[in-house]
Amino acid sequence: MKTRNEWVRKNVLREERRKNDRGIVDVIKIIRHFFKKMPEWIEEIKDPRHQSYITYTQDDLLYMGLLKNMCSVESMRQMEHMFNEETCIRTLSILSGNEKLTEMPHSDTLNCYLERLSPECLSELRRKMVKSLIAGKAFTKARLLGTYWRIILDGTGLFYFKERHCENCLRDMRKDENGKQVVRYYHKVLEAKLVLGDGFVISLGTEFIENEKEDVAKQDCELNAAKRLLARIKEEYGRLPVCIQADALYEAEPVMNICREYGWKYIFTHKDTRQCYVGEEYAALGDEEKGIRRNIGKEKGTGKYYNGIEKITGKTEVMNLYEYSYDDIGKDGTPKRVTFYWTTNIELTRENLVEMINAGRGRWQIENEGFNFQKNILYRIEHLNSKNPVAMKNHYLLTQIADIIMQLYLHWNPMVKRLGQGIKNTSSRLLESFRRHTVTDEDVSYIQRRTSVYLE
Ligand SMILES: [Zn+2]
Repeated sequence: MKTRNEWVRKNVLREERRKNDRGIVDVIKIIRHFFKKMPEWIEEIKDPRHQSYITYTQDDLLYMGLLKNMCSVESMRQMEHMFNEETCIRTLSILSGNEKLTEMPHSDTLNCYLERLSPECLSELRRKMVKSLIAGKAFTKARLLGTYWRIILDGTGLFYFKERHCENCLRDMRKDENGKQVVRYYHKVLEAKLVLGDGFVISLGTEFIENEKEDVAKQDCELNAAKRLLARIKEEYGRLPVCIQADALYEAEPVMNICREYGWKYIFTHKDTRQCYVGEEYAALGDEEKGIRRNIGKEKGTGKYYNGIEKITGKTEVMNLYEYSYDDIGKDGTPKRVTFYWTTNIELTRENLVEMINAGRGRWQIENEGFNFQKNILYRIEHLNSKNPVAMKNHYLLTQIADIIMQLYLHWNPMVKRLGQGIKNTSSRLLESFRRHTVTDEDVSYIQRRTSVYLE
């Protein structure tokens, strides 16, 4: 419980912040606050460029790429046009720490750098950022059952081409506008998202789904990519208590086996088509054999569970099944029953059922919002900033890093909530602030001042 004084103090702070919305200055403050070691981390990136031709530091280029995303600037050309301001140079030099910066880098300069940079470097930078957030204790409340960090797997298609774009392209057959079967070339990505709170989800890992070379007998697929991604998460996050969540595609024993080996929990959407014996046996069980709780969740529905269904189905991996159902009215006005099912290796109890149901349903919501948001609302991740396969990946990773900073900024800045402005609006305001606001010495001392940062 917070004391009255604490509430008052927090409200006063909030009010102060409302009066002093500083846009881009606040973004810099957020970066400094949460990622104190950022300059060091960027310093550790191996510069791929020929050292004698360098005008810009890696910090200059990376921060410019991040700002392009945070300000929701769609194309490289637009970026060049929008960022061509004295104020932008001043702000970028404060961010990057390069006092000699006199001009904004050209968009080709950024692309050239991103073509040479190993995507591993940006992936590593993100890892350091995510680790420091986890260690910072600000998000411990988001853990499932007070213990497990929820990591959600989600794949999507990114870029589609009529002609082969690179040797790693995936391909499938599609009907074109004349009904003729044609080959389509494309790139897909698999994301691991970390849940840090309600509506607060960040990218923790990325695996590109792509063929190793042009003529592979069997193409790469989401499940294979998932195995690589999970192995990488284990390697990078070691003993972090994790609960993997994913859709029914993952409700397979090889994936459960990996989770067991890594000491992780899982929650997968259950589908009878994926685990048909399990589904049949569960359906055959009477209600008296299951744990039941009624009148729960926001729809006042019913939750049921059964632990250890693998024992009656002869499966080797632990499968505890649970469901949530409620009555609803369909679009045509007729009543309908809505039911969700999940499989987990967490032992289900009357006490944890509600939290487990919320976690299961949350995954779906996060997936729906996540990529749709990044594709259609803010970052336009389907826009091709460079055809070069390496730069393509680096642009994608920069977006994911920018999104981490943006999420922190949004959850910190009370203006956003007060004015009820959407994130799209926030990023346009940021762009305006970046282009128009001259960062003063007073701003700089505000940035450097050590203050408590509250997230809402
Ligand atoms: Zn390609």
